[in-house]
Amino acid sequence: MYEKLDRETIVRILRSHGESEKLLFAKSQEICAREVGNRVYFRGLVEFSNICSKDCFYCGIRKSNKNAARYTLSDVEILDACRFAYENRLGSVVLQSGEISNEAFAVRVGKLTEAIKKMSNGELGITLSCGEQSADTYKRWFDSGAHRYLLRIETSKETLYKKMHPDDGLHGFAQRIEALATLKKAGYQVGTGVMIGLPFQTCENLADDILFFKSLDIDMCGMGPYVEHGDTPLMQYSHLLSEKSERLLLTLRMIAALRIVMPDINIAASTALQSIDPQGREKALEAGANVIMPNLTPLSHKRKYCLYEGKPQLDDDMAAVTGSLTERIEAMGFEIGYGEWGDSKHFEKER
Ligand code: SAH
Ligand code: SF4
Repeated sequence: MYEKLDRETIVRILRSHGESEKLLFAKSQEICAREVGNRVYFRGLVEFSNICSKDCFYCGIRKSNKNAARYTLSDVEILDACRFAYENRLGSVVLQSGEISNEAFAVRVGKLTEAIKKMSNGELGITLSCGEQSADTYKRWFDSGAHRYLLRIETSKETLYKKMHPDDGLHGFAQRIEALATLKKAGYQVGTGVMIGLPFQTCENLADDILFFKSLDIDMCGMGPYVEHGDTPLMQYSHLLSEKSERLLLTLRMIAALRIVMPDINIAASTALQSIDPQGREKALEAGANVIMPNLTPLSHKRKYCLYEGKPQLDDDMAAVTGSLTERIEAMGFEIGYGEWGDSKHFEKER
C-alpha cells in the first residue's frame, strides 16, 4: 500500500480519513514497534529564557511582543530542574530558549551544560534548542557535553518561510539550512521539524517537508500543530486556518507518514499537541512518535514561556507533570526508557 512513497503518495496519506486513516496509523505503529521498539523516551524540558532577538510572525515571545513578560531562569533553577530529571531517571533534558547571540549567552550555556554533566556524573543526556548560533558556539556547546540539537526549519517551502518571518536580515531561509549543516558537522544528532496547519500551507508543502527531512538525513524530528497567539502578526490570517481538531489530525498523519519514510529516527510527540487536546501527545505515540517531553520549567515562570495560546498544565509542578504522563503512557502499554538517553537508532547506525 505504501511501497512507493513519492510525493503524490505522501499527499494522499496526508489527506486520508476514516478507514484509510486507521490503516495508516496501524501501519506506522507497526513500523515504529519493529524499527525503534515499544519504548518511549522522556526529555525533561527546561524553558530557561523567553528573551529573544528574533521576530518570527507566529511566536508569542517574539522580540516585538511588548505584552510578553521576560524572564531568564537562574543557574540554580535550571540545575534544580535537571536534578529532578536525573533523580527521577528521565534520562535526558532539553534546554530551550529564545534566540540570543552574544558571547555572555554562549559562555553561560556552555557552563550550564558542563554543570549538568557534573551534577549527573555524566549520565544525563543534554539536548539544546537555542536557535541559530555561530559554528564556534555550536562547537563550544558540543564540547561542553550537549549532544543533540533541535532547530526546526519551520517549513521547507522558501516562499512560505518568507511569509512567516520578517525580511530584516535576521530570518534567512538559507541561513537556517546552513545552521542545520553546521550542527551536523559539529557532531550533534540533529533534529528539525515544521509547524503544521500554517496559513497558506498545503498538503503538497507538507509532503515536501517530509522529503526535505529525508534529503537532510535527519536523526530526530519534532513537528507540531501551529497554534495561534493573539499578540502576533500571523493572527491577521486566522480566518484561513483549519479547525484545531483538523490540525491535530494532520499532525498525526504527518508523524505516521514520516515514520514510514524514515523508520529509525526519533520522532517527538510535540508539546503543542497537548494544547489542542489533553491526550494529543499520547495520540502521537500511537501514530508513530517515540519521544515525549515532560515540562520541567518552574511554575513561577512556566506561563511566561508562551509561544502559543492554551499552553497546558500551567499549575502542575514537575512531579505532577511527570507522574501523570508516566501513568498514561504505561497504561497504553508502552515501556518508558528510564535512565536512558534514547539516542536515535538512525544516528547509532550511522556511527
Ligand atoms: N528560539 C528557538 C527555540 C524556541 S522556539 C527556535 O526558534 O528555534 C521552538 C519552536 O516553537 C519553534 O521552532 C516553532 O516551531 C515553535 N513555535 C513557535 N510559535 C509557535 C506557534 N504559534 N504554534 C506552534 N509552534 C510554535
Ligand atoms: Fe524567537 Fe524561536 Fe519564537 Fe522565533 S520561534 S521568535 S526564534 S523563540
